[in-house]
Amino acid sequence: MPYRYGDVEITWLGHDSFLITYDGKRIYIDPYKIDGKGEADIVLITHEHFDHLSIEDLEKIVSGTTQIIAAEQCKGKLEEWGKGVRRYVKPGDRLSLDDVKVEAVPAYNLTKFKAPGVVFHPKDAGGVGYVVEVKGVRIYHAGDTDFIPEMRELKVDVALVPVSGTFVMTADEAARAVNTFKPKVAIPMHYGAIVGTEGDARKFKELAEVEVVILQKE
Ligand code: ZN
Ligand code: ZN
Repeated sequence: MPYRYGDVEITWLGHDSFLITYDGKRIYIDPYKIDGKGEADIVLITHEHFDHLSIEDLEKIVSGTTQIIAAEQCKGKLEEWGKGVRRYVKPGDRLSLDDVKVEAVPAYNLTKFKAPGVVFHPKDAGGVGYVVEVKGVRIYHAGDTDFIPEMRELKVDVALVPVSGTFVMTADEAARAVNTFKPKVAIPMHYGAIVGTEGDARKFKELAEVEVVILQKE
């Protein structure tokens, strides 16, 4: 069952993949290992890692008129592929697509290292999260990130936050993050595929002081 907030429905497609629908329009974020769910009006991609930028999955949903918005680091792979209407963003960029407002926000690691002193998602690599506003509902997709100071400024209704640890926030860190910026509802993600389990999602729910909804993959 999708989660409904106001006039908007949010469906979890597993890992960091979501489908946001309203008025018959379809916005996908980071489609990865999805079943074909119909043509996308808009696709948002947070960064170039294979489990976020998946050409195989884009093939299932992108048409000639699909608007693709992606972090600049995705340009090489997406231009080589060449489908959809492509635009590239960096943290702080804002754009409007008809009745959809999209803001790219920072997403990076502070404490998740792949080698001494080298994080998985460096700030200067330009990975992003997104704040999407449709029908007056503000939805934040955090991307692959730690709890970073910029999150304190967020004003959102629904927050989609990673909880697996290893490459992103742990359940405990994600809870501290949402307890700080206080979305109306938080939905855990980034588990059940590469790293992390539903146990991480449940731990996040225990520790969060805001309403948490754990979605089932569809
Ligand atoms: Zn990543
Ligand atoms: Zn990831």
